[in-house]
Order: sequence, then C-alpha cells, then structure tokens
Amino acid sequence: MSSSPVLDTLQRPLRDLRISVTDRCNFRCTYCMPKEVFGRDYVFMSRAELLTFEEIARLARVFAGLGVEKIRLTGGEPLLRHDFEKLVGMLAAVDGVKDIAMTTNGSLLTPERARELKEAGLRRVTVSLDSLDDATFQAMNDAGFPVAKVLAAIDAAAAAGLTPVKVDAVVKRGVNDGDVVAMARHFRGSGHILRFIEYMDVGTTNGWRMDDVVPAKEILARLSAEWELEPVEPNYFGEVAERYRYKDGAGEVGIIASVTLPFCGACTRARISADGELYTCLFGTRGHDLRALLRGGRSDEEIGGFLRGVWGARTDRYSEIRSEDTVGLRKVEMSRIGG
Ligand code: SAM
Repeated sequence: MSSSPVLDTLQRPLRDLRISVTDRCNFRCTYCMPKEVFGRDYVFMSRAELLTFEEIARLARVFAGLGVEKIRLTGGEPLLRHDFEKLVGMLAAVDGVKDIAMTTNGSLLTPERARELKEAGLRRVTVSLDSLDDATFQAMNDAGFPVAKVLAAIDAAAAAGLTPVKVDAVVKRGVNDGDVVAMARHFRGSGHILRFIEYMDVGTTNGWRMDDVVPAKEILARLSAEWELEPVEPNYFGEVAERYRYKDGAGEVGIIASVTLPFCGACTRARISADGELYTCLFGTRGHDLRALLRGGRSDEEIGGFLRGVWGARTDRYSEIRSEDTVGLRKVEMSRIGG
C-alpha cells in the first residue's frame, strides 16, 4: 500500500482520526442529544451496523499509511461500547499511531477502568464537565448525573497516568456562563487543563442561536479580570484551543473558539461515525460509506486510494464561512460523529 502523506485542496495534511465507537449516550445534554429528539422512540444504530473492532483497526492501519498519527475515540459515550479496552489495545498496536486519546463524560470511568485503559495503551483523556454547580450541570446533562462523580473520574484518570487530563466545558449564555470563573478557580493549580468551548451549531437538533454563544473574547475578559494571563504558543500545528498561562504559575487554561475564531486553516482531522461513515468536517452534511468498502471485499490499497481521493478533494472550512444561511443546513449530529 502506498504510504505517503496526503494534502487537501487547502494544503492541509491528514494527521488526526476521530473515531466514534457508538452513537448511544447515557446523558441527554440539551445542546447535543435533547430528550425531545433522542427519546425512547429514537432508533440508534444496530449492532450489525456498527463497525467491528477488526474493521476499525483495519481502517486505522490504512489511515496511518496516509499520515495519521493521532487517534481520538469518542461517541456517543465511548465507554458504553462493550469491551472498549480491547479496541484500545488493537489500535495501540497499529504502526505509526503515536497517540490515542478518548473523550468521555466520565460517568463510567472508575479507577479500575482508568487503569485498564492505560494498560491497553490509551495515553490521554478529555473529560466533559460543563459546571461545578449540581443544579446547572444536571439541567445540562438532563440525566441527573452529579458533578462529584465526574470530578472522581477526573481524579481516576489522573491517578492512572492518563495525563494531562483535559476538562472541556461548553459555555452557553444564560445557562452556565456564570460558572466560568468558578471552574477556572477550581482547576487552577490542579495539573488538569480546563478548556472552555464556544457553543457550536453542530447538527440540527439543538436549536442553536448565535445569541447563546459566549465569545472567546468575553470568556477571556472574565478570566483576565481575576488573574493575569499570557498566551502560550500552540503545541503543534492544528491545535484547536487558544492557550493561556496563569502568570502566577498555576498552570494553563484554554478556549476553543470554533465560532468566533475559526481554525479551519489548520484542521487536520478526519472523523468516522460508529457505522463507518467518513466525514471531513464536524459540520459535514454528507459522509462517505467506508463500511461498504470494508464489507465489499475491497483491499487495503483500494480503501487507501479512496481515502486519498476524498482527502485530496477536501475543501471544507465550514466555520470560516458560517452564516445565517449555513446554520440551517442538514448537518450530521455530534452524537453520530463525536466531538
Ligand atoms: N460522551 C462524550 C463526552 O461527553 O465527552 C464524548 C462525545 S461528546 C459529543 C464530545 C464533546 O462535544 C463534549 O465535550 C460535548 O460537551 C461537546 N459538544 C456536544 N455538542 C456541542 C455543541 N453544540 N457545541 C459545543 N460542544 C459540544
């Protein structure tokens, strides 16, 4: 199989692969999987539709041949997938893959599970937590899940060496924006990296409005009113968070400003849904069916050639061209392709 890097039409290399392992989640975050849409009658992917671990590992090998070095496992809630640790182990054995991370809501991340994941080859974890206030957090996760258990999951990840642990908080105006400073205060000096995410117009079900977005500039102003901060250079090309260091040495904090400061120009990410659709943008409207290729007897070379063609033709830069007209497009749901 040809193994050379591939560039898209905007000269962006393919470096990162985000793999959603399930479209199911045990939370019903109002901005992601609102209960009114993802209720009892909602039809999730069937077992037969999901890519098997062997299929996922095979795709990872082909992607690695095209330059992918980092894999992030996500969902839905990835820890709901049966035997998830086994998949981590299979991906850790793929040549060329240097980093495997997971994004989780933390609900199932016990100390034992964290140790097993580390042993299987997981390197880092990002835990989502939108507020330290139970009433606010539970109103957002809409599953009655308490803050204390997520904090325990963060501790478990850190104790297992899945570090640095990143803590991601989506900020929605009038819902949890009053918690920004309290969250920063809590995580300052902890060794964990808190990142605030601008609420995005992913999918079509969350009723997104620009008025609900708290711009990065405003978040930074709130933090700067409390502490002296200075910008930190990105760790690598394509890093999504604007990073800031507390001048008093209490670590760093990040802001992911996908809406007000788009970073499409450095986007090196491909995404695969749990049923094997390839998306080249988080705001994509159309996927490419990789499962049909996997199950249709295609060779690794043929699949690699297909991926090379898709990436080579990639023009996506949704966040840079976002407008009132694009907000209503039939975009894929976050729970399908993962964050
Ligand atoms: N269940 C896992 C979790 O909660 O981290 C992984 C999947 S979840 C879709 C990944 C991340 O996307 C979470 O941090 C979530 O808060 C974030 N997210 C979901 N919808 C979003 C939106 N509309 N805007 C910004 N972030 C969003």
